[in-house]
Amino acid sequence: MVALILIVEDEKAINTLIKKNLELVGHTCVSVFDGESVFNEIERYDFDLILLDIMLPKLDGFQVIEEIAVDIPIIFLTARGRVQDKIRGLKLGADDYIVKPFDMLELQARIESVLRRTNKADKLFCLRDVKVDLSSRQVLYKNEAVDFAPQEFILIEALIKNRNIAMSRDKLLEIAWGYDYGGDTRTVDVHIHNIRKKLGWEDVIKTVYKLGYRLEVKL
Ligand code: CA
Repeated sequence: MVALILIVEDEKAINTLIKKNLELVGHTCVSVFDGESVFNEIERYDFDLILLDIMLPKLDGFQVIEEIAVDIPIIFLTARGRVQDKIRGLKLGADDYIVKPFDMLELQARIESVLRRTNKADKLFCLRDVKVDLSSRQVLYKNEAVDFAPQEFILIEALIKNRNIAMSRDKLLEIAWGYDYGGDTRTVDVHIHNIRKKLGWEDVIKTVYKLGYRLEVKL
């Protein structure tokens, strides 16, 4: 499952390390370095998950959890031995916690588990005449089912999950066809062309010059 993740961690090195590791397994990440910036970012993007450090400048992690009005799953990052932090965070509604320093594989596993557990109503994506049901993998255009090849569906899912974010052709190729696929990125172009035509999304899926594509949703 590929997710859009907000990383809130003021230690730049840790933040970057987490981002790199999560992007390697296909997630898209946005990094911020203090508690206050969380609120700008959640207005701009529809995150699937927040990784939230507790000790942060401006607003700390607890204050952030208390002030967040939208329902986004949260895993908080806490320093070793701070038992009271864990209890407080979970009481405030966080979905899980992980103790620093942590193993990247452990973090990935916890993210997967929270994403699976919280895999909630946000499974239907509607834009103009199009409805995409990500759980039943059905696409409707003007309420009529549209035939999608498996790769077309994977591409549309990736673009929806990362809406408003530019995705490179390489990344899309890798997501839909896998690492070992020998084909070139023109395959992506052909499929995107078909998707646009089937859904009337010529101006929704934007071409990003020299990079790839972005599914644009006006926020
Ligand atoms: Ca910190």
